[in-house]
Amino acid sequence: MTDLSSSPVLPLFSAEQIAQRVDLLAQMIAAKKMHNPLVISVLKGSFMFAADLLRALHNHGMSPQAEFIHLSSYRSGTSSSGSVDILRDFDSTVKDRDVLLVDDILESGRTLAFARDLILARGARSADVCVLLEKAGKRQVQIDATYVGFACPDQFVIGYGMDVGHHWRQLPFIGVLKKRDDDAQLNML
Ligand code: IMP
Ligand code: MG
Repeated sequence: MTDLSSSPVLPLFSAEQIAQRVDLLAQMIAAKKMHNPLVISVLKGSFMFAADLLRALHNHGMSPQAEFIHLSSYRSGTSSSGSVDILRDFDSTVKDRDVLLVDDILESGRTLAFARDLILARGARSADVCVLLEKAGKRQVQIDATYVGFACPDQFVIGYGMDVGHHWRQLPFIGVLKKRDDDAQLNML
């Protein structure tokens, strides 16, 4: 089995680029003047982004509540297969609140469409979507992110919370594994 924890990583977005972009996103979000704001981070991949975004929102004068939902979108190799399960729900009420959904990557859109529909069905006033990365041309369902950090190349990325087999989440930057046979590597996990 390939040891993915020791593969070389090609940096894609540096820690400095991410920090600058997160601050700008927070500035845009704060300008919107959300009503009774609730930030819901989609675990696991968005935990680092959400932590930095929340601190940046604080620096821009916001005091949102913060929550987490753990969703699982089943994947085979590097593409998602369709079904989304709630592994851990959030506790807070969303009724008549402006909610900001935070995730690492918008790809097929299934994960975030599921979360947005759930939140709106529970009576939220609005559910904006903030993603760090967006992969163009991969959407399987109709959903647009309100705030996007960076356009992401059509490659499997890791770091800054994002993983392959739970490796690499700790990286302070975003990168791609140097070997290009990612599919073959993932299928061996
Ligand atoms: P979607 O439901 O297809 O939009 O799936 C998005 C989810 O798949 C993200 O929240 C990530 O957890 C995961 N994902 C998609 N692409 C990548 C990637 O390149 N690296 C790591 N995780 C990814
Ligand atoms: Mg995810």
